[in-house]
Amino acid sequence: MIDQTLQEAAARRLKVVGIGVSAPGPLFSHEGRIVLTSNYPEWTDFSVREFLASRFDMPVHVEHDANVSVLAEKWFGKGVGSNNLVYVVVDRGVGAGIFYDGQLYRGHHGIAGEIGHTTICYDGPQCECGNRGCLEMYCSSFAVLTQARDVLGADAQDGQLTIDAVTHLVREGDPRALHLMTEAGCFLVIGVANLFNAYNPERIILGGEMIKAGEPWFEAVKESVRQRTLPEVYAGTQIYMSELETDPAFLGTGSLVISAAFENVSELEMSSATAE
Ligand SMILES: [Zn+2]
Repeated sequence: MIDQTLQEAAARRLKVVGIGVSAPGPLFSHEGRIVLTSNYPEWTDFSVREFLASRFDMPVHVEHDANVSVLAEKWFGKGVGSNNLVYVVVDRGVGAGIFYDGQLYRGHHGIAGEIGHTTICYDGPQCECGNRGCLEMYCSSFAVLTQARDVLGADAQDGQLTIDAVTHLVREGDPRALHLMTEAGCFLVIGVANLFNAYNPERIILGGEMIKAGEPWFEAVKESVRQRTLPEVYAGTQIYMSELETDPAFLGTGSLVISAAFENVSELEMSSATAE
């Protein structure tokens, strides 16, 4: 795909300033190396940056998907105007991008925000990360689908049970699908309430495939958060679902590469860059 994109850019005489990749984690973002990706064992301990840098002669930026997504929200979405926000991505895994006091907070190894691997049940099932009872084992789309196979069976579209099919049923008012999703939402809330107390954000933005369930699910999540946080703190914190039409991970990654290129503007041939 990168080869093809570079050929198309060359044909149109466009200047390419770098390659950006976003990936779920835990990801050592300083090294551009995926340490572990839930449910995709073939990506364990894979250095995306090393792999691409050995093949392409241009800057390669690798960042956690939740981190680039919080940047996208900060620049283009519900985070505009805020210096303390958290983006929570709820897909097959769960992670958070933390924009803290005006900058992206990555932590020592670059894995800050891995809330999917925080414990919500101290003697819960073993997770592939080594911990037990991790948040994402209860509220990710993977967790919902595992349960939905028993509860909904072949009722979902064509017997092909996907998270799209489950969220579609929720929007249609199916009580079993809504119960599954709100139960997962209540577990997610434990992670979100912990973020309230750890980072005291001004805004929390939920994204990822689980938000396709829409308002019924979102209202249940907000109500549970309210029950678990200090009333004054809850009242002063805004919670949103992401409304960006372009996937914030794509938007944030592209913007990160462009931003880095402008920081190293002397390395660019500005004459060719400005020609297009
Ligand atoms: Zn874990």
